[in-house]
Amino acid sequence: MNMNFSDITAATPTPETLAAAYGAINARLDAGDIPGAVADWEQLRRETETWSSLTHLRFEQDTKDEAAKAARDYMDELNPTVTSHLVAFKRRLLNHPDRGAVQAVTGAHALRLWEMDVTTFDPIIEADLIEEAKLDSRYTALMASAKIEIDGETVNLSGLAPFTQSMDRDTRHRAEQAKWAFFAEHAEEFDEIYDSLVKLRDGMAKKLGFPSYTELAYRRMRRVDYDAADVARYRAQVLEHVTPLVAKLMEARRVANGWDKLYFWDESLTDPQGNPKPAGGHDFLVEQAQKMFDGMNAELAAFFRTMNENGFLDLKNRPTKAPGGFCTSFPTAGMPFIFANFNGTHHDIDVFTHEMGHAFQNYQSRDQPGFDYLWPTMESAEIHSMSLESLAYPHIHLLVGEAVADRYRRMHLTESLAFLPYGVLVDHFQHEVYANPGATPAERKAMWRRLERMYEPWCDYGDLAHPAKGGYWQAQMHIYGSPFYYIDYTLALCCALQFWVKSRADYDGALRDYVALCARGGEAPFQALVKSAGLISPFADGALADAVRQAESVLSLQ
Ligand code: ZN
Repeated sequence: MNMNFSDITAATPTPETLAAAYGAINARLDAGDIPGAVADWEQLRRETETWSSLTHLRFEQDTKDEAAKAARDYMDELNPTVTSHLVAFKRRLLNHPDRGAVQAVTGAHALRLWEMDVTTFDPIIEADLIEEAKLDSRYTALMASAKIEIDGETVNLSGLAPFTQSMDRDTRHRAEQAKWAFFAEHAEEFDEIYDSLVKLRDGMAKKLGFPSYTELAYRRMRRVDYDAADVARYRAQVLEHVTPLVAKLMEARRVANGWDKLYFWDESLTDPQGNPKPAGGHDFLVEQAQKMFDGMNAELAAFFRTMNENGFLDLKNRPTKAPGGFCTSFPTAGMPFIFANFNGTHHDIDVFTHEMGHAFQNYQSRDQPGFDYLWPTMESAEIHSMSLESLAYPHIHLLVGEAVADRYRRMHLTESLAFLPYGVLVDHFQHEVYANPGATPAERKAMWRRLERMYEPWCDYGDLAHPAKGGYWQAQMHIYGSPFYYIDYTLALCCALQFWVKSRADYDGALRDYVALCARGGEAPFQALVKSAGLISPFADGALADAVRQAESVLSLQ
């Protein structure tokens, strides 16, 4: 494991090299050599993925670098060609006369995933896909255009975050007023973009033969072992068990702060003494994170050391770096990479507790035989990241300091619980939206407000007119750009909370199960992975019961 990040290279594919590579792979398959053809195809996919991860990363690391930008644009242009080759070859394997021999090489799960993939793409929707991407970037550009004046400063929407979390109630209120004034000012454009997206997606689904976009979206997300009815049952569990718990937490916060009413702008101040922050900057945190992993598990510790020493971390904020944080990977090297922008808030800690979970899983499953098994589907991938956040609790004083460690754990647990009703609300709303694609923008806002009252009955927008009329969801990027994705976070969180419960009784046992789950990568569908880690499927009754009971006692709500 001596590979350095700077050693990783990848050739740039062209339409000609791709055509030649697929020509050779197809010829091998025609000659009856299934294992050889699949192995060559696997290698090609790994090389293409390493190239695309590197190209994406270099652009994010310096958005002003002209060469990196040009490479990124070229990749976006080549993408439809890559997809159509991929889909065509998956179709060939699925339709192979000796399906048993194909399955012996690829595994049954890969075939199920490809069966989903091939039904979601057809050249008849290519122009619609391009239009969908354009509408999504219009939304992103509109969001990025926000210039909000507050306390003599001009900030964008993410720059507003510290104001909305301020200790001063009036500052939080003014920050929310300024934010929602921006949405009210552009209300028509936010409505129009979404209305176009809904109709476009509904149209694509119908061209592909689905009754509505919901069925197509589930297939795009590769959900092979659950359906919309399972998800509806899960939402009902959150409504029954978690909504009342969060209502109690909000009421306790109101009383603790001596407010006569809890308003929307009070919801982001989780800790009345101010949300805990990391105890130091970049170098301090990297050093302390190593100590934390040393205390958790030998494999995690060794892996983090390699990431750090061999250049697979880029965590400091720089002026030309793209915002946000993510984990990506280079399958030809078997190593992941973590990108972040430290800003001194508790989000810096997420790099070590969340992104490291993704990275560790990817590394643990690097020797999985199939490309499709290197990462699992998203609801499973977020189990690895979210579970590590709570498995880090006993060591978190190393990052935040002894004095606030307990307050950090309370804040994290409270925010996790409060996320569940919101997450299922986002999901429920989208099911209604795509079941009624002809609804007007005003009808959609009424749908949201009705569901919001159901899942978050404490939510009081006071004088914030835009969200009070049902427009809150327009600030939730996933609803525009990643439809139906949001439930994945809540399904994973249900599993992460179960790991938390387990770790309170048997910390080493919980970590062992966690490490074993990471090594399985994406070799099985969601519910099979969950079961193998000794967890209850979120779709089964009682999946949230223990976590809710223990949270009530830890947070002294009983
Ligand atoms: Zn994640």
